[in-house]
Amino acid sequence: MKIGVLAIQGDFDAHRRRLEQLGAEVVLVKKPEQLDAVDGLIIPGGESTTFLKFLEKGGFLEKLREFVRAKPAFGTCAGAILLASQVEDPPQTSLAALDISVRRNAYGRQLESFIGEGETQLPGGPLEMVFIRAPRIERVGAAVEVLAREKNDPVLVRQGKIMAATFHPELSEDTRVHAEFLKLVRNGQ
Ligand code: GLN
Repeated sequence: MKIGVLAIQGDFDAHRRRLEQLGAEVVLVKKPEQLDAVDGLIIPGGESTTFLKFLEKGGFLEKLREFVRAKPAFGTCAGAILLASQVEDPPQTSLAALDISVRRNAYGRQLESFIGEGETQLPGGPLEMVFIRAPRIERVGAAVEVLAREKNDPVLVRQGKIMAATFHPELSEDTRVHAEFLKLVRNGQ
């Protein structure tokens, strides 16, 4: 089982380290054709507009759209924005793989970056959550499962084989979120 981490921008290396810590074989995906060799993909945080500018060249975005229709993917922060079906502030194109609406940079200036603790359905109690200029999930579709909340906001969600977090689980010690994604890939859902 090989896990790809989209490695064109943002904090992909922290994801690689976390996945390797959990025993996964990691491929840093820098070119669209590398997607053919992986069983699941993490789309890291960063700046979603920068991702889109890069992906719109050379058919990468189309290839990613195909990938997320067929195989498991997990987006964190900017990655969650890319997976969402609807994006606000401003509206922008996406992979539309997950039936949620997100508002970019929604926590305001003072709360741009903060560490929260939220309730989660993952076994093991509350989860530390590092938010960095995070989007807010404003709507979740009927088929979307909320796996964790911070205050009242859904912050970790799953729909079939697609997972998204508005925070950065790769920056906390807790390995549960990545372990959950690996389980999803292993089950080949
Ligand atoms: N603010 C970024 C965006 O809108 C996301 C921030 C992040 O990934 N940490 O794309």
